[in-house]
Amino acid sequence: MDTKNKGFATKLIHAGFHGDHTGTVNVPIYQTSTFAFRNAEHGAALFAGKEEGYIYTRIANPTVKAFEENIAELENGSHAIATSSGLGAVSTVFLALLSGGDHMISTDSVYGPSRGLVEKQLSRFGVTSSFVNTSKLEAVKAAFRPETKLVYVESPSNPAMLVTDIAAVAELAHSRNCLLVVDNTFASPYLQKPLDLGADVVLHSVTKFLNGHADIVGGVIVTKERDLCKRIRPIMVNFGCNMDPHQAFLVLRGLKTLSIRVERAQENAIKIARWLETHPKVEWVRYVGLESHPQHELAKKQMSGFGSMISFELKGGIEAGRKVMDAVKVATLAVSLGGVETLIQHPASMTHAGMSKEAREAAGIGDGLVRYSVGIEDINDLMSDLEQALQKA
Ligand SMILES: *Cc1c(COP(=O)(O)O)cnc(C)c1O
Repeated sequence: MDTKNKGFATKLIHAGFHGDHTGTVNVPIYQTSTFAFRNAEHGAALFAGKEEGYIYTRIANPTVKAFEENIAELENGSHAIATSSGLGAVSTVFLALLSGGDHMISTDSVYGPSRGLVEKQLSRFGVTSSFVNTSKLEAVKAAFRPETKLVYVESPSNPAMLVTDIAAVAELAHSRNCLLVVDNTFASPYLQKPLDLGADVVLHSVTKFLNGHADIVGGVIVTKERDLCKRIRPIMVNFGCNMDPHQAFLVLRGLKTLSIRVERAQENAIKIARWLETHPKVEWVRYVGLESHPQHELAKKQMSGFGSMISFELKGGIEAGRKVMDAVKVATLAVSLGGVETLIQHPASMTHAGMSKEAREAAGIGDGLVRYSVGIEDINDLMSDLEQALQKA
């Protein structure tokens, strides 16, 4: 079926699927490392790029390609490159678009390991960087240097839930001959389409909402233009961070329900966020769907829904955080997010424990901050679970 002019939910289920001679209704797992050539001439034509086809799974594989075609349509992009993990996608994009001597600008509260990759690894190869609060346009403007090549934004960001004006930053970046890359993991293409807002590249940790079932790790890059894909794809192949066919099969299965999963999870999330806002043990709640969120109006403008990630600050600080973690029974105490199951974690004693208290606070991560990824369980069970846990805080 040609899904180009179909709706989002139809694309989720059908885009990238072309069937085969058996009548299969799903993309099979092409569990093979290599592909036979018909003859020497065929092999030579494939290597020369004169004919389309498969050579070796690190370069391309039919199950992986089905996922790439699907996500490229969902993001309104031209091409996609699947990777072994979300960080595989981040590092592939940086390695493709930055060289020694180049400078990049990024969100200060970006996913920790993405920042570590730039500050600890790429810095060894002469790449410099400025991490600023990208929700403030003046801060982005002030960070440009003559050698700036890339702006890398995460919106909403983790775990501060800051929203960046993607269209405005795209304009700023393009006026200085820079590319804009957006990490769209927290929103998913169901709620936000950065390429439509002016970004050149969008990437995901597929591990989170796209797959949605906490059973694989994966990543993907989608480019607006074919030429950018031609620049980035060989880097994925050279550095060897391809997605494998079994991984792609599970992602294709999880992806089919993205729209109904996100709908249900955000329906739960707004109820929980509003209730937490009135709770005596809670100092404040940060959820982009609340009127009290500093960029709520911007989120309304560039997103079609508010998602299911909530951060809240407990009045009792680090001790209260630990007590709530130990008391929850329906929510699972674990990192990651975007799955059907509700996950809870405490950044100050877990994901961000390696940072100094000052650095944490500068990034908006207080000692009592709890990150809550709302799943699709029954709302009453989630609320009574949190209520009994908060009583112990
Ligand atoms: C998890 C995550 C990543 C990294 O993805 P992995 O699949 O864990 O490698 C990158 N960005 C964001 C926003 C994430 O949440």
